[in-house]
Amino acid sequence: MKYDDFFQKKIDDLKQEGRYRVFIDVKRHCGSYPNADYRSKHDTKQVIVWCSNDYMGMGQNPSVIAAAKQALDDAGVGSGGTRNISGTTRYHVDLERKIADLHHKDSALLFTSGYVSNSASLMTLGKNLPNCHILSDAKNHASMIEGIKFSGAEKHIYKHLNMKDLELKLQAIPINASKIITAESVYSMDGSISPLADIITLAKKYNALTYIDEVHAVGIYGATGAGMCQQLGISDDIDIIEATLAKGFGVVGGYIAAKHHIIDFVRSYASGFIFTTSLPPMIAAAASASIDYVKNCHKERATLHARAAYLKTCLKQQGFHIMDNQTHIVPLMIGDPVITKNISDILLSSYGHYAQPINYPTVPRGTERLRFTPIPCHSEAMIDSLVSALVDIRNRIGHEAFNIVPCNDNVGNTDNNMYDSEFLYVK
Ligand code: PLP
Repeated sequence: MKYDDFFQKKIDDLKQEGRYRVFIDVKRHCGSYPNADYRSKHDTKQVIVWCSNDYMGMGQNPSVIAAAKQALDDAGVGSGGTRNISGTTRYHVDLERKIADLHHKDSALLFTSGYVSNSASLMTLGKNLPNCHILSDAKNHASMIEGIKFSGAEKHIYKHLNMKDLELKLQAIPINASKIITAESVYSMDGSISPLADIITLAKKYNALTYIDEVHAVGIYGATGAGMCQQLGISDDIDIIEATLAKGFGVVGGYIAAKHHIIDFVRSYASGFIFTTSLPPMIAAAASASIDYVKNCHKERATLHARAAYLKTCLKQQGFHIMDNQTHIVPLMIGDPVITKNISDILLSSYGHYAQPINYPTVPRGTERLRFTPIPCHSEAMIDSLVSALVDIRNRIGHEAFNIVPCNDNVGNTDNNMYDSEFLYVK
């Protein structure tokens, strides 16, 4: 085996396809986000960030920073252990209580990231529930797919948002088998929303558990930022709510919230929870402060949605293809990895606007895009400047570059997604 050749060839393959990923080195300006320093090989310059998931700017919120500093002074940097062996602190306990209250659930369980919370929880549920079948939306996140695959449960992928297909799949499963329906409330790349009320109806009809990923909804939807389930008034009918502390709450970490016995079960059986050092106390303290703040962020939430709507309107007025949706996510569809990267590069280097190109496997091939996530701190003037930069670029490189992809690819092509990709190890 020629190891060097092997690795080089795999990298060359990505370059050949135009989806070799280049990370942009940005340092956000504390206190004036979305401004950031972009450091290239040659120099450092100020840019505006358009692609962050710190949707509410909570990563720089003064009360969150103060809570982290206080906990750092009081308890030091790391937690020093797994949750079981000396790594449970009052910060973790208080945060789990706060999360459970936010979602109106009995209990909550913290993980080191949203990825781990999905992967570990679904793996544990699917592995242990007898004769378990997991139904999964075609566009579910890699972390859910990983959990489902490693659980060894029977998996059924239903077409994106398609309740007819979900019901057909439910009908085909033996009546006495355990079943879990999994979906994201808000899909982060398309901005589509799952028909959660219909999922609940089907779950009741076929005696299935419901597991909903609210990663791109917490902080942003619902009266107190508890997510789309809260907004729709259906939190009580969802068995397990999963989310992150990294995006709408601006910190890091993940969690599930559910009835006490479900949480106790995952706490007791999930390898990804048991065998890892718990989050640093300062992170748990920061996340607690963030939840407290976000609960009352009604004005900021309204501004966020207004900014997203304004950006969508401006882009549409200029004739750009954006994927239509009812959420804060603004996907500008391009449909080719090389062109998407080229536009992103020009935006950054010539206009000081940073939007990372989104390519496979994050989205299906042929639906490459720039994904803008305006936050409350983006001004309308910043949006005007971004749109005018895009118009300039279109004039420079030609209108064809922006006219490749058909929009609203919402059918969920199951042949071109993460379920069968090389990025997940179990087929
Ligand atoms: N679930 C979804 C739908 C996501 O998009 C992501 C990350 O982007 C995750 C889970 C993982 O969350 P985290 O970034 O906290 O690991």
